[in-house]
Amino acid sequence: MRDYQMEISLTAARKQKPAFDQLQFGRHFTDHMFVMDYSTEKGWYDPRIIPYQPVTLEPSAMIFHYGQTVFEGLKAYLSKEGQVLLFRPEKNMERMNRSNARLCMPPIDEEFALYALKQLLSIEKDWIPSYEGTSLYIRPFIISTEPFLGVAPSNSYRFMIILSPVGAYYKEGINPVKISVEQEFVRAVQGGTGNAKTAGNYAGSLKAQEMAGNSGYSQVLWLDGKEKKYIEEVGSMNVFFKINGEVITPVLNGSILDGVTRDSIIQLIEHWNIPFSERKISMEEIYQAHKEGTLEEAFGTGTAAVISPIGEFFWQNEQLEINNGETGELAKKLYDTLTGIQYGTHEDPFGWRVEVLEEALNI
Ligand SMILES: *Cc1c(COP(=O)(O)O)cnc(C)c1O
Repeated sequence: MRDYQMEISLTAARKQKPAFDQLQFGRHFTDHMFVMDYSTEKGWYDPRIIPYQPVTLEPSAMIFHYGQTVFEGLKAYLSKEGQVLLFRPEKNMERMNRSNARLCMPPIDEEFALYALKQLLSIEKDWIPSYEGTSLYIRPFIISTEPFLGVAPSNSYRFMIILSPVGAYYKEGINPVKISVEQEFVRAVQGGTGNAKTAGNYAGSLKAQEMAGNSGYSQVLWLDGKEKKYIEEVGSMNVFFKINGEVITPVLNGSILDGVTRDSIIQLIEHWNIPFSERKISMEEIYQAHKEGTLEEAFGTGTAAVISPIGEFFWQNEQLEINNGETGELAKKLYDTLTGIQYGTHEDPFGWRVEVLEEALNI
């Protein structure tokens, strides 16, 4: 880890906290943020924790025009004993650097970024809600800041980490969602940026999402960008199926985002000796399995919801109901195990938990 000097300036006026038992996702932000700058001459410099505040940029800053930016998403959990816990945070820092590489952005020092995050969390500990299922959502992101309208990689960047207390994703137990299989739009193509967490992927997905929403579906199932045959993701989550006892997830092909939750689920399934394969899977195969009665479960996976069971697919004018529209046994077991590991109530056989210790803070 590089030996950066971190400046910390605390706010004079702490904000009034929102009611932690009725939080919406991503609406409230804590008192402080982490900021660090980059220039081609200096590299990354001037790491600091400062009061949460607006960002001032020139209108010509490159981020506003060509979208050269990356982000991450992870959570801090408060255990019953009052420990601050992270779940595999080093995976997020690694992935941020993979996204950086794809977007021609400079790599961050992963170890330092994690250290900076821990310092920020030590300052904002009171913002981690303690109600069951709530957490503090962490959003690290990097934007291109050079004032220049040429299409080229920026020569300057800003790395920031902001924090947002979030409510329980499932307030009345896990509820399966209805999914429309997207036939017109695609999320990503091989060779594109689908495997990077970069803004454009999400901007490009909104139209399909809006149209599915208007038809009463909560998300879309994305098919591959070339043949529109093979399943890639669901909404902004990875997707798993259970067919005739075997768990299947689409193999990472360059257009699928490599989820930390996805990877953790694969390790758990293999640990439990459940038959598993990572391969190409077509919508036709899902349709056939449904017809034969062997499609047992389908669910999305990601940091926000952990597991989001799918109760119905709409495909080619047919409604395919899965497991009577109820949450499957495997989805439930995975949800309980992963959240148990995250909140510290379940044993952690893979060493995924990282505790943020108070002494991390050296102001
Ligand atoms: C972030 C994300 C996921 C899930 O990744 P996790 O690391 O499990 O949160 C899946 N698909 C897309 C498109 C994503 O942006």
